[in-house]
Formats: sequence, C-alpha cells, structure tokens
Amino acid sequence: MKPVQPNATPSPSEVDNRGLLDRLSGALPRNALLVGDAIDARYREDRRGKYSASPRFVMRPGSTAEVSVCLAACNDFAQPLAVHGGRTGLSGGHRVVEGEAVLSLERMTDLGEVHGDSATIMASAGAPLQAVQEVAELAGYLFGVDIGSRGTATIGGNIATNAGGIRVLRYGMFRAQVAGLETVLADGTILSSLRGLDKDNTGYDLNQLFVGSEGTLGVVTRARLRLHPKPLVEANAFLAVPSLEAALELLKRLREVLGSSVSAFELMFREAFEGVVAFLGMARPLDAKAPVYVLTEVQALREDATLETFAACLMQALEDGFALDAVVSQSPREFHALWIMRDSCADYVRSLDHVTGCDISVPMHRMAAFLQAGQTALGAIDPSTEFIVFGHLGDGNLHYVIRTPKREEAADKVYRLVADHGGSISAEHGIGFDKKPWLQLCRSKAEIATMRRLKAALDPKAILNRGRIFD
Ligand SMILES: Cc1cc2nc3c(=O)[nH]c(=O)nc-3n(C[C@H](O)[C@H](O)[C@H](O)COP(=O)(O)OP(=O)(O)OC[C@H]3O[C@@H](n4cnc5c(N)ncnc54)[C@H](O)[C@@H]3O)c2cc1C
Repeated sequence: MKPVQPNATPSPSEVDNRGLLDRLSGALPRNALLVGDAIDARYREDRRGKYSASPRFVMRPGSTAEVSVCLAACNDFAQPLAVHGGRTGLSGGHRVVEGEAVLSLERMTDLGEVHGDSATIMASAGAPLQAVQEVAELAGYLFGVDIGSRGTATIGGNIATNAGGIRVLRYGMFRAQVAGLETVLADGTILSSLRGLDKDNTGYDLNQLFVGSEGTLGVVTRARLRLHPKPLVEANAFLAVPSLEAALELLKRLREVLGSSVSAFELMFREAFEGVVAFLGMARPLDAKAPVYVLTEVQALREDATLETFAACLMQALEDGFALDAVVSQSPREFHALWIMRDSCADYVRSLDHVTGCDISVPMHRMAAFLQAGQTALGAIDPSTEFIVFGHLGDGNLHYVIRTPKREEAADKVYRLVADHGGSISAEHGIGFDKKPWLQLCRSKAEIATMRRLKAALDPKAILNRGRIFD
C-alpha cells in the first residue's frame, strides 16, 4: 500500500481517504493508526491460506471510546472495514477485501480481577482466551471454553463466532459464558450491559444478539465472563471402539451414570488417529487397531466416587464389547499427552495437501447414515478421496476433513448431505465468506431475510464485515 503523501496528486478515493485519515489521526493516538508501509503482513494472515488484500489503513484503538471514534468516522465516510481479533477464524470472516480498512482489537487486552461473589471476570475483547483461562485458574476457577487456538484467539473473536471447543458437554458454548457485554455499533453508539445479572428480563436480550454475529452487527469491546468452580478431580481415558454406534452407546452410558461430570467426548476415526500419531512421532497410547477412537474426560468438584464410577463404566464397556481397549490417564503428564494428541489433529490436517475441512454438526441418530452417504457420494466424485474425520462427538460436531483435488465439488456435496440429514453446515466456525453459498441449505428464506433486516437496522451503510454471512 502507498503511504498517503501530502504533495502527491490524489485519486478520488484517496481524497475520501485523506479526509477520513485526517479525522482519525486527529482523534487517535499515533500508534492507533497505521498507513502505508507501517502496515505489516500480519493483517493479511488467513488460516485457510486464501488471498487477503492489503488494508487501506489499520485502526488499533486502545479503548471503547476509541473504537467508537473509529466507527463513527468510518460510518460517516462509508468506509467498509474488517474486524480483527486473533485471526484464527476458519471461515474467512477477518479476510480483507480490496478497499477495506482493518479495525484490530489487538491493543485492548486488559483483564479485570476475578469477582468472587459473582464468579465472573471482565475481559477486553483483544485478550487471548488463554490469558482468561490462566487468570481464572490462579483465582481457583475454571473458564468453561477451551479451543486449540487458545493462545492466539481473542475473547472478542470467540464471542463473535460463539466458539465451542472440547468442553461444551459440561459448560456450553461461548454464549453460555457471556454474563455481560459491551459493543459498539457501526455509527459509534456504545451499548454497555456489563452488570452480569443472571435475571434481567427488561426487554430484548441485546447481548446475545451479538454472540455469533461474526462482527457484522457491532464490535465487541468488553465482556463480563462467567467462571466455574475449578474441578478438584479430573481424568481422561482413550479407548479403541469397534464402531460409531459403540461410541454413541458408550457416551450414553457415561452420561447416564456420571451426568454433567462427563466434560468431553471426542472422536477420531482411524485415519485421523493414525495420522496424528505419526505426525507427532508419539508412542501409540493403545496397541489395539480399531475403526474409531474416543477420548473422554470427567471432572468432579471434590474427591468423590466419580473416578471409580468412570473406571467401572469403562470396564463394563470393555466387557460388553462397546470398547476393545482402554487406557485411563494416571498422572497429569498422561492426561495432557492425550489432549495434545487431540489438539494436534488440526495441525496434522494442515500439513496435508488437497484438504478441505468441513466443520459440521449432524443429529446423533443420523450420523452413521450421513457418514455412509458421504463415503458413497464423494467416492463417486473421486474414488481416491481420503476421509480424516474427528471432532466433538458429544455435541454431534464433526470436523469432516476430505482429501481430494476436487475440493469445491466435494465440499458442495458434503454440505448438501449435511442438510439432507438435518444437520448444520457450520457447527462452530461461523459462515464468514467461505460458507456463504450454502447458508440457504440450513436457514429458511424467512430467517435469512430477518438477518438482513437486523443488519440493515444496525449497520445501514454496511461498513462492518460487509459481505460476510450473506451479501
Ligand atoms: C488450531 C485451531 C483450533 C481451533 N479450534 C476451534 C474449536 O475447537 N472451536 C471453535 O469454535 N473454533 C476453533 N477454531 C477457530 C477459531 O479459533 C475461533 O473461531 C475463534 O473464536 C476466533 O477468534 P479470533 O480472535 O482469532 O477471531 P478472528 O479470526 O480474528 O475473527 C473471527 C470473526 O470474528 C470477528 N471478530 C473478531 N473480533 C471481533 C470483535 N471484537 N468484535 C466483533 N467481531 C469480531 C471477525 O471479524 C471474524 O468475522 C480453531 C482455530 C484453529 C486455528
């Protein structure tokens, strides 16, 4: 990008740009506005490896008031912008389109103290998820959401995408962690509802409107987040199971005897398990070869019978043939090694060529039928298609990764099959740019029209993340 030079003959768009830049530079501190060569390559990062344009300029506000200044100015000049958190999103929502500016929350990383009476913490939007987890842990609490990108993904991005992850079974999606929210609308209006009341039925719940809205309705600046009592006891187990049906039966039995103590139930089909073990160069946790592997975890608040019940349930599953082999972690080191293996699935997949990752959910009772239909349909497109499937089985959420050079045709088929089986084309990552063509497969015309009306009401000039979710 060319720096704005006072003596150069400006093009019409640069004239606009200059008026806007003058206004911004008059209202923001020096380090909050980047133009020209000062814009480094990180603002063009894209986890999917797709083209992201160079932004016209980058705004890095340091406070909610500065976010408001940025948005009010951009709105007056009808300057579209892409909102940036940690840029770990997997649907292209933060990808920059030619002509867009970037508004990055990277300078807003403050965390408040843990509020013991309400078990909440105040977090600024640019704080990394891991920082919240660590502060909560130091104060004797647990933050309920955990995802593989925890070190880079931000609270604002997590809220905008309604992030899920590995412990949704016990703690719910990110939506459930939001007790209060502060957001800035496109015209600079600040909406602040941070009291964190569990009961507040005074009209519409505006906070929840922004959760999962992918930065299209407003910019999240701060959130009051719920914390949970830290479990005193936790253990995980890795199992080889003979089929998907057996894995589902195992989940059912665990939940029957352990209820919400079951905090995770992750699935890996053989190709994913073998692949990640080889990728990490680690010893196999189990010798048994099986079509399906499960990593499950339990948590309890005090020393009680949870671990014994967990072990007994797994033993019974082995006796009844729902599991072929099992290993229960006996130390924190073993516990973490199993999680590292699961966390590394994403990196393993990224190391392969010709892969398309489809983050989908399918009702449990139709999952086997969906997988069968997928094999048949994708085999017809490319008989050499490889399937690397893993995910959060406890939530019906699969990372359905296919390896074929016929990527677009294959992805289209997958999403159509997902819709035919009553599922969602995006369980966790949102729609962004990448899944826009398929939104109508699982949302009705009336629903999409209502989303458009909301967008038009809150952002009439469509400056915020324009063209994401729908055109
Ligand atoms: C290795 C890996 C593992 C992952 N695992 C999971 C997982 O298990 N579960 C899961 O849900 N996701 C997962 N993700 C996806 C990603 O980490 C999440 O979507 C995350 O919530 C994005 O946060 P971010 O700060 O990186 O947001 P970004 O990527 O910067 O942005 C994502 C979207 O949110 C918008 N946005 C960002 N900040 C704000 C804000 N302050 N206000 C308004 N809009 C904003 C952006 O415009 C964009 O549309 C994973 C990604 C990777 C790379």
